[in-house]
Amino acid sequence: MREAVEFQEYKARRIVNVQRHVDGPWFWCKYSAHPYVGCRSGCEFCYARGGRYLGKRDPATFDTLIQVKTNAVELLRKELGRLDADVIVCGDWQQPAEDRYRLSRGMLEVVLNLGFPLFIVERSPLLTRDLDLLTEINRQTWVGVVLSMSNVDPALKRAFEPRSPGLKRRLLAMQKLAEAGILVGTALMPVLPLVGDDEKHLEDAIRATKEHGGSFVLAGELTMDGVQAERTLAVVRRLGPALEARWRELYNWQVGGKPEYAPPRGYAARLGLLVRELCARHGLMDRMPRYVAPGPLAVNKRIAEKLFLKTYDLELEQAKGYRIWAYRKAAWAVDEWPESIAEIYHTGGEAGLRELPRIGKSLASEIAGWLREEPRFAAG
Ligand code: SF4
Repeated sequence: MREAVEFQEYKARRIVNVQRHVDGPWFWCKYSAHPYVGCRSGCEFCYARGGRYLGKRDPATFDTLIQVKTNAVELLRKELGRLDADVIVCGDWQQPAEDRYRLSRGMLEVVLNLGFPLFIVERSPLLTRDLDLLTEINRQTWVGVVLSMSNVDPALKRAFEPRSPGLKRRLLAMQKLAEAGILVGTALMPVLPLVGDDEKHLEDAIRATKEHGGSFVLAGELTMDGVQAERTLAVVRRLGPALEARWRELYNWQVGGKPEYAPPRGYAARLGLLVRELCARHGLMDRMPRYVAPGPLAVNKRIAEKLFLKTYDLELEQAKGYRIWAYRKAAWAVDEWPESIAEIYHTGGEAGLRELPRIGKSLASEIAGWLREEPRFAAG
């Protein structure tokens, strides 16, 4: 029998999480704010079941006890009022919590009033209830949405996420958003190893995205953490003992031991390359384009975007870690530098760029090349 859901209302002390660095090359967000803790959908693989997200809460209550930050809207208004406008990932349209409390709608009103660009990652099509506000935010600043799904295979959905919103409903939500002129795509997250990571499963999802107006598909591998790992493996066991053995091998998970947090690097690279190829086949991007506000520092954000994208390319090539880190640190430095790097280059040339932290000779030369070759950077 299905257990009843309980809501526990409380007043949170803070709501906005400020990231140290923007999360390129994935969602490009600087801030996040969510009104609920726990989720009624209770997907077996959900990373939020992991202890690190639930704090001291019993992970077994993840889908039966939903904690509600009743002051989410007021807190958001107060905290965002003190921050510089940048992309915020905001809201949570999970049901039945959002039907009852409508906190996400209230949060959108704050985002609109304060002029922040908005990013949303959602499995719930209830999001389109607030299409009026989303359209208005998109008109004033920017909105990007990803509908998340692991695949579009109903049998895998039934096995791993039986209570999450229907796949067709998610795709129809995507179509509505696209028709409203909002940038939308799919997050294949998590891709389910050995059952949902083959070409057919990936291409079916990519094709469905294309057919419903999506512009991009991101794919992320499944991580394994504590209770979530045990529950996910229990589903795999029901699918077949041979499959369980292969999953254990992939995560280097001995019976009685603990799994690796993520599959090996080569696995992620092969998955990323396959998704890239399939996206190209269907005319989609395999990265989400970054929103950049106009202004003198826009050039820094665009150059940082290129550096972040380079880290992803290098991950797919399985390049040495130090090379990836060099680009990542350079991306952070350029992204956060308070003066236009186009100006620095115009006045000081490559030597000027080398004065920036984490920018050595070869990166300065690469950045200078981009500044010279791309007309959009010329104005600074
Ligand atoms: S809908 Fe999303 S947040 Fe809720 S359990 Fe599933 S994956 Fe987790």
